[in-house]
Amino acid sequence: MIKPNMHYAELKDAYLFYNIAQKTKRYLEEHPGQRLLRLGIGDVSLPLCPAVIKALHEAVEDQSQQERFHGYMPEPGAPFLRHDVAEYYRKRNIDITDDEVFISSGASDELGDILDLFDSNGSSLIMEPAYPAYVDANVIEGRRIIHVPSSRENSFIPMPDEPADLIYLCSPNNPTGAVFTKEQLKVWVDFANEHDSVILFDAAYEAFIEDPSLPRSIFEIDGARTCAIEICSLSKTAGFTGTRLGYTIIPTQLERYDMSLHDMWIRNRTTKTNGISYILQKGGAAVFSEEGQRQIQENLHVYKNNAKVIMKALDEADIWYTGGKNAPYIWMECPNNMDSWTFFDTLLNEIQVVGTPGSGFGSCGEKYFRFSSFGNPEDTQEAATRLATLLKRL
Ligand SMILES: *Cc1c(COP(=O)(O)O)cnc(C)c1O
Repeated sequence: MIKPNMHYAELKDAYLFYNIAQKTKRYLEEHPGQRLLRLGIGDVSLPLCPAVIKALHEAVEDQSQQERFHGYMPEPGAPFLRHDVAEYYRKRNIDITDDEVFISSGASDELGDILDLFDSNGSSLIMEPAYPAYVDANVIEGRRIIHVPSSRENSFIPMPDEPADLIYLCSPNNPTGAVFTKEQLKVWVDFANEHDSVILFDAAYEAFIEDPSLPRSIFEIDGARTCAIEICSLSKTAGFTGTRLGYTIIPTQLERYDMSLHDMWIRNRTTKTNGISYILQKGGAAVFSEEGQRQIQENLHVYKNNAKVIMKALDEADIWYTGGKNAPYIWMECPNNMDSWTFFDTLLNEIQVVGTPGSGFGSCGEKYFRFSSFGNPEDTQEAATRLATLLKRL
């Protein structure tokens, strides 16, 4: 009998978002006509910007014309978009060559697929609380997972201790909104070089960083070119969650056992993909145009204002939290030592606000709660007002 990959049996149930959906559904059945204010979503709510829409339309038109039609695209990405992404880094004085950029259909896809480059007997260090997909992708591969919890004591920025083959870092972080400083990231880069590990740096939220002293790319850190892969996405930056486009940076000098991980990834992509849609890559290129950059900043501004509104409510109630400043997430300590599902129920039942319980991101999230700034501004303002009143009462 054919034997399936038995590691699937080790996956924990995708309990978090299912449970949220069940609880909100039940609440609405019992309270018909009530409207819920949703601060739980990890998806964007604003539409694609006009520059992107225009480029997408033009690209569709191209595909109707004999002279402008595109068939298969190069597997690592269209040269025009690889160039634009590399320029996006070079403008910030980060030396990335066009051929170190790989265009992808999103960060989640890459975070799973990239494991093809490594021996599956290895270990993966995952800083927690974490995006649930990191753990699951590693369980499926049968890799040994080293959970590195973080806490209020280190402001949810863990530092290295036990060596591992692969190291997952996410900054700005989902769910905590915590951001590594250059000095903190340098400690991890040195650690990875010393132990010949590879860092997978998830930079999905880099565009939310406003403080110029904070690193938006791991390649701002000396030594990262010999130990890091950066995985990025246009999902949160430019609203591509449903459109799907991302990019991955693999430096040409990144080698282990005399194997070039960069060249291996070209081989992987040419084997397992046939490139990303021409139309989408044209839409993606528009994000990096001057007009596109201005327009996506307008959208980011709306989300950043939402974050400010939520932070103000927490500040008034003297609640401890991370994030919100250079990240779309706010990670708060639940009041009165409440556990995160009890706080979820309290918010739902008393003020009709839906957020995300911290325990869904790993056990060290137990007494914490995540708010997202991706909702609509009116609902966010109303939710923050109710939250401020409730927290005073609790
Ligand atoms: C949303 C998100 C991504 C982006 O995933 P896509 O597949 O590109 O939509 C990546 N990493 C984290 C931590 C995220 O929250």
